[in-house]
Amino acid sequence: MALIVQKYGGTSVGSPERIHAVADRVKRWKELGNDVVVVVSAMSGETNRLLELINAVNPKGAAREHDVILSTGEQVTIGLLSLALQGKGCEARSYTGSQVKVLTDNCYSKARILEIDDAAMRQDLEAGKVIIVAGFQGVDADGNITTLGRGGSDTTAVALAVALNADECQIYTDVDGVYTTDPRVVPAARHIPKLSLEEMLEMASQGSKVLQIRAVEFAHKYNMPIRVLSSFDECDEGKSTLVTREEDIMEKVVVRGIAFNRDEAQLTVTGVPDEPGIAFKILGPISDANIEVDMIVQNVGSDNTTDFTFTVHRNEYEQAKEILCALATEMGAKSCGGDNKIAKVSIVGVGMRSHAGVARDMFEALAKEGINIRMISTSEIKVSVVIDEKYLELAVRSLHEAFGLDAAAPA
Ligand code: ADP
Ligand code: ASP
Ligand code: MG
Repeated sequence: MALIVQKYGGTSVGSPERIHAVADRVKRWKELGNDVVVVVSAMSGETNRLLELINAVNPKGAAREHDVILSTGEQVTIGLLSLALQGKGCEARSYTGSQVKVLTDNCYSKARILEIDDAAMRQDLEAGKVIIVAGFQGVDADGNITTLGRGGSDTTAVALAVALNADECQIYTDVDGVYTTDPRVVPAARHIPKLSLEEMLEMASQGSKVLQIRAVEFAHKYNMPIRVLSSFDECDEGKSTLVTREEDIMEKVVVRGIAFNRDEAQLTVTGVPDEPGIAFKILGPISDANIEVDMIVQNVGSDNTTDFTFTVHRNEYEQAKEILCALATEMGAKSCGGDNKIAKVSIVGVGMRSHAGVARDMFEALAKEGINIRMISTSEIKVSVVIDEKYLELAVRSLHEAFGLDAAAPA
């Protein structure tokens, strides 16, 4: 007998019919003799609808209230799925994040999980029940409801799998695994049967939203393999992707996949006096405002001044620009501005560690298409470039082909 944690995303539970289909699958796993813990997202579109309501009433109000509202989507789904299972003769019990107790910090809208109390769930599992947990939410030490950031139900699932020492963490979604790039953007994308947690971590952090980055971080830290599968497959033995330790993967390719991200914006301040502490002076107030910075480039000119460019999440662009331009005036900078029509494209693969020239090949492929590169950053297993957003799809398609990732055309 195994303990399985399954997570079903928004489209997988997007209608009463889909909830019944999920309930049938959960029941099958339970009847095979497994203990089953299910994590669900809100029904598709629901979290966006709640966000629209917040924006229509008071987007600047307390973040605490935003999380109270955003967490309700998942609460509806746990109730519906429990009812569906009960109707099929399968005992099930729903839990909100605070009922479990998924303890988080108090950073509303991007809270981090600190601890999970497994006592009540274990008791129900021993009594033969299926546990249905609301993803994406937790509770802080003072009892306030928190949410874990968009896509956060993945993180709830992995964290529960770790806390319960599960045999497998299955992420059911609307694609049958991880592909070399988003198959909705590049139809020639190829299915990847197995990839390393390190590669998935880079893919997720560079924009492949098939798994939330924090979920992969958790899985990496606690060595919990994740299986990504489609909840739309009729059978339980369809295609899937196993994301696991690098040692367990035989095939090491140079470029495993291509990730992209339209969620970033670029900010630039020019002609800042070049003196020690300048990066701290600029980025300190940005970080104090809880704005995360991704890429950073600093260029020293010949006239003892420096130009400083960095990227932030697009949602935080206006706030970051306000802070930066106030600083620029204070520092006597030449100019301050930005652009929120940029995109980042990254190539990822553990094989890059031992292969030189991958970045060169990437730049050549982009040059061939006349695509201008604005910023570059590299790590051991990835190369990222920032380009104009309008060239994003062309860049992804060309790189996919240049690195030999296109699936063979059907015979
Ligand atoms: P869920 O609601 O189930 O959490 P998501 O929309 O968060 O589903 O994630 C699944 C989507 O991720 C797919 O529909 C696909 O468009 C997108 N995606 C992005 N990059 C990839 C990739 N490399 N492989 C597979 N899917 C990807
Ligand atoms: N419902 C939340 C979202 O749409 C969390 C999730 O689906 O994982 O982001
Ligand atoms: Mg998701």
